[in-house]
Amino acid sequence: MTVQIMCSNCGHRSKKFAFDRFNFDRPPEKIVEAGWNSFGDAFYCRKCCDTWEDRNGKDRPLWGKAHTRERVYQVMIGGILDWLEYQEKGEWPM
Ligand SMILES: [Zn+2]
Repeated sequence: MTVQIMCSNCGHRSKKFAFDRFNFDRPPEKIVEAGWNSFGDAFYCRKCCDTWEDRNGKDRPLWGKAHTRERVYQVMIGGILDWLEYQEKGEWPM
């Protein structure tokens, strides 16, 4: 399977990362290494993280690496669940 995330500010997409059960940790690690961060459910690319304070002020910091990794895992798991549902029903969930 692959996972790709999108910046909630500019729409920039991350690289697509392949993963399987043997390297499940790789995509979250690579995405954090590439400078992505998050705020709640939303992801932000490196460029938009650099300008985050200008747009949001100092009292609303981004949620950091641990949260961003966790959010990437959630996206990966969502993809797996969609795939399982597809296997079961034969139609891709919208
Ligand atoms: Zn961006």
